[in-house]
Amino acid sequence: MTSSRTLRRPAELVKARLAPSERLADLERVAARYAVAITPAMTALIDKTDPRDPIARQFVPDPLELDLQRDEAADPLGDDAHSPVEGLVHRYPDRVLLKLVNICAVYCRFCFRREMIGPGKANALSEQALAAALAYIAAHREIWEVILSGGDPLVLSPRRLAAVMKRLGAIEHVKIVRVHTRVPAVDPARITPTLVRALKASGKTTYVVLHANHARELTPAARTACARIIEAGMPMLAQSVLLKGVNDDADALGVLMRAFVECRIKPYYLHHLDRAPGTAHFRTTMAHGQELMRALRTRYSGLCQPTYVIDTPGEAKMPV
Ligand code: SF4
Repeated sequence: MTSSRTLRRPAELVKARLAPSERLADLERVAARYAVAITPAMTALIDKTDPRDPIARQFVPDPLELDLQRDEAADPLGDDAHSPVEGLVHRYPDRVLLKLVNICAVYCRFCFRREMIGPGKANALSEQALAAALAYIAAHREIWEVILSGGDPLVLSPRRLAAVMKRLGAIEHVKIVRVHTRVPAVDPARITPTLVRALKASGKTTYVVLHANHARELTPAARTACARIIEAGMPMLAQSVLLKGVNDDADALGVLMRAFVECRIKPYYLHHLDRAPGTAHFRTTMAHGQELMRALRTRYSGLCQPTYVIDTPGEAKMPV
């Protein structure tokens, strides 16, 4: 049976046969701490007969998430130290992160913002906080690029997104709006012509950066959603996270990069996993990541090469 709605409760995961019933109590403990959501598109993609399915691994909670390591941190990138007003991170001079929402279409089990996102955390920015964030951007002429992040900004209604874009469009020195999202892959039905129109800010260039980690996420529906964005004149880039058991072999990674390129999406970053709490079971070594990058370089087209990067608190993203 395929679910027609997003699964959020462990009992629903058991009923959908995404987890065995004997794990229910464990899953309840994880869900009490970290948000759970699996969209119908992702539920349909999971091979329930494969205990190591790379899609399930990204979204179905695992009791290992409650094993906290000493070197893990609630805010692994140190964003809080660079937040001049609520919802805004100004870490590098020419760009800011504007976190419009703290909710997502799916909740990734390895998310570096997992302590800050999900229902029960403060949700959308209030009108007052958004006005303060936009006033900050307007007052800082060095800000050339605004990155809409979250949470996932594409869970907002087209009307709300269009309103934000209009206000950004009025700030003369902002030239680029970049949208970070997982929605075109995990909930492609949301990418309607109305939503695509909402993403365009008058006089600005919008880039859409898709987060996907396994080639199977690029289903025919996801490809159609991405084509809709690209054909509306918005270039797309991709970012992926290197994850043990999902994409940590050269074939899986190469096929993912090729799938992006086939969709006209340029691979941008491959992130070394941040040290968010309860994510050790997804971690690979940096040496292994470098080995995979060498394999990508020798076996795949130049178009298929992302930059392998690590984020460290207080420092620029570093190529590994
Ligand atoms: S979509 Fe992004 S912000 Fe949301 S849970 Fe996944 S990684 Fe975290």
